Amino acid sequence: MRKKLFIPGPTECRQEVLDAMSTPMIGHRTKDATALQQRVSEKLQKVFHTNNNILLSTTSGTGLMEGSIRSLTAKRAIVFSVGAFGNRWAQLAKSNNIPVDHVEAEWGQPTLPEIVDEYLSTGKYDVFTITHNETSTGVMNPIEEIAKVSAKYPNVMWLLDAVSSLAGAKIEVDKLGIDVCITSTQKALGVPPGMAICSVSQKALDHAKKVEFRGTYLDLLELNKYVEKKPYQYPSTPSVSHMYALDTQLDYILNAEGLENRYARHKEMAEITRAWAKKHFNTFAAEGYESLTLTNVDNTEKNVSVADLIKAVGARGYALANGYGNMKQKTFRIAHMADTSVAELKEYLNILEEEIAKL
Ligand SMILES: *Cc1c(COP(=O)(O)O)cnc(C)c1O
Repeated sequence: MRKKLFIPGPTECRQEVLDAMSTPMIGHRTKDATALQQRVSEKLQKVFHTNNNILLSTTSGTGLMEGSIRSLTAKRAIVFSVGAFGNRWAQLAKSNNIPVDHVEAEWGQPTLPEIVDEYLSTGKYDVFTITHNETSTGVMNPIEEIAKVSAKYPNVMWLLDAVSSLAGAKIEVDKLGIDVCITSTQKALGVPPGMAICSVSQKALDHAKKVEFRGTYLDLLELNKYVEKKPYQYPSTPSVSHMYALDTQLDYILNAEGLENRYARHKEMAEITRAWAKKHFNTFAAEGYESLTLTNVDNTEKNVSVADLIKAVGARGYALANGYGNMKQKTFRIAHMADTSVAELKEYLNILEEEIAKL
């Protein structure tokens, strides 16, 4: 039995989006493909709140994390991590032979702007990475505060992993001065997995020219070259199916629901889930830094069997995510992102509650 997803990706996709994925294929060098790509990018600029170019990559989000840190680090990168996905940046850098330093906060805690300032003020770095929404811990970092620090260092490129938050939480790329902002289709956007999306600033594009070995498939300059070329295309065959799905879903996000309504719905779902978690368990993320798109429930006091709970809700047709990595059993995670309605979330929390009482 397929289970209804309340996990932090992939998320449930609306039928209209699934149908769009099965649109008959067109050639990727045709005028129709150019028009589709252009249309999707223009709509994505609205969701990213940016005038920067949008690049699509036929990889998952990790592809653009690798591509951006490799394409932009000429000197040394500093990775500010608050969990497993933050640590991934450091691993991507090391495996590409990119000089990198790695600062990891205690899990559950955020990256504080003072720490960013302390490291950037050394002048050692030309790239820094931040995880907006750390899916392993349920922490959402204070990017408005971090933006104020970043503004003091215009020659240091800011790469933001917004994979599990963009389109659920408002991220104003231009206002915050984010050089590369990355997301994946399968999280808050509510599109099947298989494509990554980023915005890239002109400053970052200029800086990338200083990097000699940027790779090929994930070279941001190469992707950008094709996007700026007329006609607007991609260097290799992209997932045209994802572009159809994005085209359909972005109309829904921008016109049928509206961005501000979408952000408000996510905030409401986060508040409901947090209150539920605090009533029955606890929340793992430090107070004031709880995510708007997923709640990491701290199970250490109550210590229910998360494996049994996953089985029990599974038998009722719903998926639940265990804690990430070594937080398995100590926490479990409830995603409230993409197109889940408040009513569906409440129904899910009721089912969880019933099954917890039976454990
Ligand atoms: C899911 C996720 C990733 C990885 O994205 P993929 O699309 O699976 O490569 C990276 N960072 C965060 C915060 C995530 O939630």
